[in-house]
Amino acid sequence: PADQAKPDPSKKTLVILGTGWGSVSLLKKIDASQYNIIVVSPRNFFLFTPLLPSCTTGTVEHRSIMEPIRSVIRNKEAHVTFYEAEGTSVDYENKKLTITETDNHDNSGSTTKVLDYDYLVVGVGAQNSTFGIPGVQENACFLKEIPDAQKIRQKIMDRIESASFKNLDDEDRKRLLHTVVVGGGPTGVEFAAELQDFFEEDLRKWIPEIAKDFKVTLVEALPNVLPSFSKQLIEYTEKTFKDEKITVLTKTMVKKVTEDTVTAEATKPDGTKEIVQLPYGLLVWATGNAARPVVRDMMSRIPAQKNSRRGLLVNEYLVVEGTEGIWALGDCTATKFAPTAQVATQEGIYLAGLFNQLAQADVLESEIAQLENIARAATDEASHKTILAEVESKARKLRRTRSLLPFEYSHQGSLAYIGSDKAVADLTFWASSNFASGGRLTYLFWRSAYISMCFSTRNRLLVVMDWLKVKVFGRDVSRE
Ligand code: FAD
Ligand code: NAD
Repeated sequence: PADQAKPDPSKKTLVILGTGWGSVSLLKKIDASQYNIIVVSPRNFFLFTPLLPSCTTGTVEHRSIMEPIRSVIRNKEAHVTFYEAEGTSVDYENKKLTITETDNHDNSGSTTKVLDYDYLVVGVGAQNSTFGIPGVQENACFLKEIPDAQKIRQKIMDRIESASFKNLDDEDRKRLLHTVVVGGGPTGVEFAAELQDFFEEDLRKWIPEIAKDFKVTLVEALPNVLPSFSKQLIEYTEKTFKDEKITVLTKTMVKKVTEDTVTAEATKPDGTKEIVQLPYGLLVWATGNAARPVVRDMMSRIPAQKNSRRGLLVNEYLVVEGTEGIWALGDCTATKFAPTAQVATQEGIYLAGLFNQLAQADVLESEIAQLENIARAATDEASHKTILAEVESKARKLRRTRSLLPFEYSHQGSLAYIGSDKAVADLTFWASSNFASGGRLTYLFWRSAYISMCFSTRNRLLVVMDWLKVKVFGRDVSRE
């Protein structure tokens, strides 16, 4: 209830931007009773991104991987307020944050609010990079949020239904049934794999007339796909894709996109270049991350951030360089760590510990101040001494509480789904030993790992039910 969330003036106000991996893991672990917490995000739910590629084909339904933020803050409701809005600019010198609520329901325009904060955590993630390549923004689909997956799912069926229309000439039908995926990182690989599965397991059966022309092409600028995985898993993935009949074009850099053709520059084995034209029906663009506008705005205002391109520069305590009272985590930062859910989660847990410590330090400080007042007022020497001893003991505790440790990342490994019930895994044990595996057993591991990582029991159950449903009935091929 609104009354319960009234700010307590004796507590500091902590504003958290975002409801993704970083911010939500912070929210889960923080002792919310120590702060007035305000969460601001345009998305009122947490999204389990590892299963987002599965939503593009209906292997998993999108609501199964969404968890309402209200359920995250339910137990902390007395101390947490949520605003469905975007952080648009930060006045870091005066500790003010401007947020903008875009009202989509009655088209009444956007409303702006200014929030005062003591501490601010920026966990806004990233947007898709296009490198300014002409035509990408207008013609490509991306894969970052739920509406992206819904759009792709709709377009797949739309292209297939149009291609089944008998009057089309061969060239047009082939183009409509050709999906080009740009970017051979994990997002591009997992999407291509999911789409080919959809075709092999369902579409081929339900709509046999499209079978001979359905085609998926994965385009990657580097010499191989999954550059962050070990060599043997890269080779295994490329071989599996060959068996699955996914065309992989490596050393091929996309330069231009129009509404029906991708133009790329391919480097041939002898080092010469050639221009490749790929007519497409569906284009999915997955070339990695770029900074969001609010992050770019911060980078341009804070002098210490001027040289950063990829995101906010932070120190080893995740404090945004050149500011006081602002921390950042996850994909919106530029650090030595990869932009993954794993990193963002560990950073969120770290920050929760840090804020719990800061709150404890505040309590100790005020207790010490009170005791010092009592000591000053004490008339007999014995009680004066006892109180001072207590002050000293609390001061020692305060020093310990204030001595914060820097953030340390512990890499557990990387997993990716590569289609036909196979996955690849680069796992790390005891911080140094590595174990690489690929195949069907790894896929079972992939499934159980992701099920155990799902946000809630409700999510876990829904995902398992989706998988069972697809096993029994196949994927739903109706066009929404
Ligand atoms: P996000 O989780 O992206 O959250 C950002 C939040 O900020 C969102 O709630 C967003 O709505 C909100 N926001 C945006 N703009 C604003 C604003 N202006 N003001 C306030 N809030 C804002 N990583 C893995 O480790 N394993 C995987 O298997 C994996 N699979 C992936 C699959 C896909 C398809 C994708 C796209 C990514 C995957 N990742 C995976 C990467 C992982 O999802 C990201 O690294 C992770 O989401 C980063 O967490 P974050 O909290 O920084 O940002
Ligand atoms: P990425 O940055 O990992 O890969 C993008 C790829 O696109 C690169 O290999 C790059 O060489 C290629 N590329 C860039 N411009 C190109 C062009 N013009 N033409 C052709 N190729 C081009 O991006 P991603 O796959 O979206 O992943 C983003 C982050 O999310 C990564 O850190 C990744 O590890 C993480 N992620 C992890 C998983 C998983 O663990 N299963 C799944 C998805 C994403």
